[in-house]
Amino acid sequence: NGKRVVIIGGGFGGSTVAKYIKRFDSSTQVTMIEPKKTYMTCPGSNWYLAGLVDVDYLTHDYETLKTKHGVNVLHQMATGVDAVAKTVTLDNGEVLEYDRLVVSPGIDFIYDAIEGYSEEVAEIFPHAWKAGPQTELLAKQIQEMPQGGRFLMVAPPNPYRCSPGPYERVSMIAEYFKKHNPTATIMVLDPKTKFSKQALFGEGWRDVYGQMIEWYGSQDGATVTKIDVASKTVYSDFDEVSADVINVIPAQKAGKIAFTAGLTDDSGWCPVDQDTFESKIHKDVFVVGDACIAGAMPKSGHSASSQGKMCAAAIVSSLNNLPMPPTRNVNTCYSLVAEDYGISVVGVYENKDGRLSGIPGAGGVSKAGASLQERKMEADYARSWYQSITKDIWH
Ligand code: FAD
Repeated sequence: NGKRVVIIGGGFGGSTVAKYIKRFDSSTQVTMIEPKKTYMTCPGSNWYLAGLVDVDYLTHDYETLKTKHGVNVLHQMATGVDAVAKTVTLDNGEVLEYDRLVVSPGIDFIYDAIEGYSEEVAEIFPHAWKAGPQTELLAKQIQEMPQGGRFLMVAPPNPYRCSPGPYERVSMIAEYFKKHNPTATIMVLDPKTKFSKQALFGEGWRDVYGQMIEWYGSQDGATVTKIDVASKTVYSDFDEVSADVINVIPAQKAGKIAFTAGLTDDSGWCPVDQDTFESKIHKDVFVVGDACIAGAMPKSGHSASSQGKMCAAAIVSSLNNLPMPPTRNVNTCYSLVAEDYGISVVGVYENKDGRLSGIPGAGGVSKAGASLQERKMEADYARSWYQSITKDIWH
């Protein structure tokens, strides 16, 4: 019927587009390609490290998308895109034709940015920046760390998936250590000079964990350039540090298929129209989520899902010759500093002169010096946020 949409990737971005296209116009034929039969979310995976949730809590399947919403889910890998012939090739050799294509493959890692690091070394010093076996490996290492040992995080440079994620992670590891390894220490070596919600994290760390967490930025010479596996040592511009458990979160770029399909620019990410998320390089191809360049919007699951809804509206409008409705995007990032201590940042974004920009006065962060009761409420909101967004996307 001339309304065939193919979606690559069944994460936050891709699954949202699939569901919302069917909701807006059920006569559209939607095929989503995702190798995994179940999807474990990165949101909440730091809570798992603290022992607050289990793998089941974080895992979602595609049954509702298939049976209730009529999305055709193919558990394959997309290996190629021909934007002229408008086809997608799968790893089983099958070729799919599309009228509109959506690409939401998330991120890939730039392994060689740190000397001595590689995909193989990531099995020893896990990144745990894609949820799944890596997350479980990191949890195991934390649990097996000697009493009084040192946990070291090598934080990523901008831009990367989930700006407050590394700092929520060390908070959750501190939560675990406080109960099980109270003399352990945590060090963060960061190639940035500052980070998301820094003042709020700093306040929470002092109040809840005393001196346990130490953070150093690039101004302190903390940019790590080399690591040595055998001695468990990392080398920065300034110093060398050894640790018992090392979590290296590498620099990032758009997921591989975005490169294969020719959708990236020199930055390693995909330029898109800031209303519709149509690629600026290939017509009728759309990129949402972490892989796209979305102005001031952070790379988050909430952003990916918000963009997915706008993109679904753009596709349904164009396939039905309807005008595109005005767009607004929203992001919220909750972080747990401790089980009952939450903080958040919210932004609402609109296309201003071809760039998604925060609308002044429409967002904000949790206030400094809030009461423990307010922090507890935000921790509960964080858990409710998780329930509502995963229900919205997969159930
Ligand atoms: P993904 O969700 O990664 O989905 C991409 C999918 O594409 C994957 O399932 C992959 O298998 C599939 N894929 C890749 N290549 C192909 C291919 N060639 N063919 C077929 N399929 C393919 N965000 C929040 O909003 N709130 C949070 O609290 C939060 N916490 C986080 C905590 C951590 C520790 C981390 C690491 C991230 C967190 N995030 C959070 C960020 C969030 O996980 C990402 O921003 C979000 O997953 C991006 O969605 P996406 O669709 O772009 O990519």
